[in-house]
Amino acid sequence: RREEFAAIRDKPAETTDGHRVTLMVNAGLAEDAANLDAVGAEGIGLFRTEFQFLVAATLPGRESQYKLYKEVLDAAGDKPVVFRTLDIGGDKALPYLQDEKDEAENPAMGWRALRLSLDRQALMKAQARALLEAAGGRHLRVMFPMVSEPWEYEEARSLFEEQVEWLRKRKRMLPMVTEYGCMLEVPSLAETLDMILPRLDFLSIGTNDLTQFLFAADRAEPRLAERYDWLSPAILRFLRRIARQAKEADVPVRICGEMGGRTLEAMALIGIGIENFSITPAAMGPIKAMVRSLDAGAITAEMDRLLADPPRDLRKSLTGWAKRHEI
Ligand code: PEP
Ligand code: MG
Repeated sequence: RREEFAAIRDKPAETTDGHRVTLMVNAGLAEDAANLDAVGAEGIGLFRTEFQFLVAATLPGRESQYKLYKEVLDAAGDKPVVFRTLDIGGDKALPYLQDEKDEAENPAMGWRALRLSLDRQALMKAQARALLEAAGGRHLRVMFPMVSEPWEYEEARSLFEEQVEWLRKRKRMLPMVTEYGCMLEVPSLAETLDMILPRLDFLSIGTNDLTQFLFAADRAEPRLAERYDWLSPAILRFLRRIARQAKEADVPVRICGEMGGRTLEAMALIGIGIENFSITPAAMGPIKAMVRSLDAGAITAEMDRLLADPPRDLRKSLTGWAKRHEI
């Protein structure tokens, strides 16, 4: 199969009935950006900026953040990179930033990600400046993690826009275009999505956290790892609703959780109207091969049928369907 994946590396991820799917990768290191061509990815759909913080012994300053972001953008060249602002806390604890009192019993639902950034604005301002300056003269794409309510997105975006003004006054080079988006990984945002869709350049669904919150099941608890299936009516109906709503508002949607990197799951996601994926680089070959053998119209009809009256075992039904259609 390795040769098979190599043979399609430079071919488009297009279904047999001509639907174009975008495949990008999740990343956290400068090397990932340098490897985009080698893995056949169209860009970085999720750059986890917290990686740099997690491997450092002390808080990385604005200069070192700037250096990393510039290096990533230089290496990616014309390919898009979506930088996610710090997602610290939860499963990504930072000893030098959080103390014992932050070791809550439910860290995933705790003081993390954008919540922490909005409370520690100096941290977020430094990151905003580093990103804006690194993308001077280029295209900057930023997204915010764990947005639970619209005002959090607005506040984060304003903070960036203030930094833009600051730089403009000093006649510094600004990004040519800045796109703002948010992650949908907290279910509450789904209920207020209409309030921010007009303000979003894109939406990125983080299925790792979203699943844990939808099912109330800790993503780090091994005894629950097999219990709830991504191929469940609850998740797929939820995602289909989001995808439709965003499409109506003309806002592109991308899946950036691990779910998108699994063949059967990605097939089902295409069947509910999702066309953009950011996946782990190792999944690139298998997912592209699946897309190139898939009839998008047929899987859409099948997903409509399955979600209208779900069988007991959706995974089994989809496995059978994929086999019959030689996916
Ligand atoms: C997610 O939650 O699905 C996601 C992509 O973010 P992370 O895994 O970094 O929390
Ligand atoms: Mg997440």
